[in-house]
Amino acid sequence: IMVRDLKSKTAITARAEEAISEVARKMVDNNINHLPVVDHAGRLMGIVTSWDIAQAVAKDSQKLTEIMTKKVIVAMEDEPVEVIARRIDKHEISGVPIVDRNNLVKGMITAEDISRLICSQN
Ligand code: SAM
Repeated sequence: IMVRDLKSKTAITARAEEAISEVARKMVDNNINHLPVVDHAGRLMGIVTSWDIAQAVAKDSQKLTEIMTKKVIVAMEDEPVEVIARRIDKHEISGVPIVDRNNLVKGMITAEDISRLICSQN
């Protein structure tokens, strides 16, 4: 099974200039914990999680670019899901954005998606 088989239909992303409150709303409305941050062309700039939002509240940060993680661990569509599971575990994260060769965001793959896949196979 490859990343492309597990990919969600639409990629929910945040723009770098979006307010932190808008990003928080997007997470709540879509029931997600991770949002890839993209530029005007949809290229990956960073990732923001609900943990980063908590951090923003604690430190009173106002800008998304200040709280997002800029060095992002990613997945490619043609990688096996097993490889991504190992990558997620190694970096102690819970999800990775899926990007193409031009760094365009195609979606997200989370530890939750992977456990759901394993459950459906058994
Ligand atoms: N090893 C990390 C540490 O000790 O700081 C643990 C992750 S920590 C609980 C959550 C942080 O990981 C957040 O700041 C979030 O932005 C970042 N993060 C989540 N997914 C990521 C990914 N795919 N690539 C890089 N950072 C990520």
